[in-house]
Amino acid sequence: MSDNKIIVTGGMGYIGSHTIVELVNAGYDPVIIDNLSNSNVSVLEGIKGITQRKIAFEEVDLSDSNACREVFSKHKDAVGVIHFAALKAVGESVEQPIRYYKNNIFSMINVLEALTTHHIDNFIFSSSCTVYGEPKKLPVTEKSPIQPATSPYGNTKQVGEEILQEAMAIEDSTIRTISLRYFNPIGAHKSTLIGELPLGIPNNLLPYLTQTAIGIREQLSVFGSDYNTPDGTAIRDYIHVVDLAEAHVVALTRLIKKQNKSNYEVFNLGTGKGNSVLEVIKSFERSTGEKVNYKIVDRRPGDVEAVYADTTFAREELGWATKRDLDEMTASAWAWEKKLRGQ
Ligand code: NAD
Ligand code: UDP
Repeated sequence: MSDNKIIVTGGMGYIGSHTIVELVNAGYDPVIIDNLSNSNVSVLEGIKGITQRKIAFEEVDLSDSNACREVFSKHKDAVGVIHFAALKAVGESVEQPIRYYKNNIFSMINVLEALTTHHIDNFIFSSSCTVYGEPKKLPVTEKSPIQPATSPYGNTKQVGEEILQEAMAIEDSTIRTISLRYFNPIGAHKSTLIGELPLGIPNNLLPYLTQTAIGIREQLSVFGSDYNTPDGTAIRDYIHVVDLAEAHVVALTRLIKKQNKSNYEVFNLGTGKGNSVLEVIKSFERSTGEKVNYKIVDRRPGDVEAVYADTTFAREELGWATKRDLDEMTASAWAWEKKLRGQ
């Protein structure tokens, strides 16, 4: 068994590609499995530009059980899996629930079966702060109550966590798992060789904002200014994608070194600081010198008012904390947008 081979499902995607870079930096040997349903093979070039390494890539749909079995038997010498592969558009999941459940849940079950078959004992799952819904108390700790999911996408994260918890609870389970609950990842690698590649009209704030500033979109809509927050716009915990990527390496290493306290652990990954939509716009204008054309419109259905992380557990147990501030996030998102458009 190789002692540093890691399978990264969804490794061609936004968070996955940044994590591949940090895995290589930490001395791991990642293999990407991705069906390119929301990514592009050119990402491999970007990763190579940063790491000087050609990363092994398998184009496979993990929701196909035979294909998943086959690709895992080829890489059964892996010591861990980071499971990013999922469809993630909240609105689309409401329109196409069966597609979302099939993709996200089947993939996860197939991957877990393969882990069991090949005794790959270390597993990291991409979860989300959406599991907290509209929190009654801020900041949210890992013990804050889970609220009913408001979309099929959100439900795939909750069900995913439940499946893991139950699967890890059986006595003869040798698998160790960490669910990482991401807050709002934004920004891009400082090299501008990898970043977020939204297909079509972006749903998320940052890609919509940078596409507006560069002239692809006419105006950014700020969804709601009547929230019970200091400036009336909604609050989120924005985290630099490279900080997030680094946390994956720390969490995986904790499992591989058997430093985990139980075989199912959960960590919030955020900065611990909430910023409003208007504060993000101001940060972008400050860090880039660009103006953003925006207007205030109605609230977006399903949005929560405010959510940000209590980071104590991640800091104390993982020894991990974010290093990059909001201005660095918005500046790097802009540098990436300019690079994408050849500017
Ligand atoms: P992304 O869409 O950029 O990356 C996901 C990757 O998974 C894509 O490359 C896609 O092609 C691949 N994929 C999807 N279904 C697959 C399948 N059946 N087989 C093989 N590959 C498949 O998304 P991201 O932003 O990098 O998110 C990564 C993970 O983090 C997802 O699980 C997502 O739900 C979760 N997450 C993301 C955010 C966020 O704001 N970006 C927040 C919380 C959680
Ligand atoms: N938002 C906005 N305009 C947009 C996209 C998002 O005002 O075009 C707001 C949204 O209402 C939320 C915040 O920006 O308060 C972050 O939204 P995003 O979709 O990026 O992430 P979410 O927190 O919904 O997962």
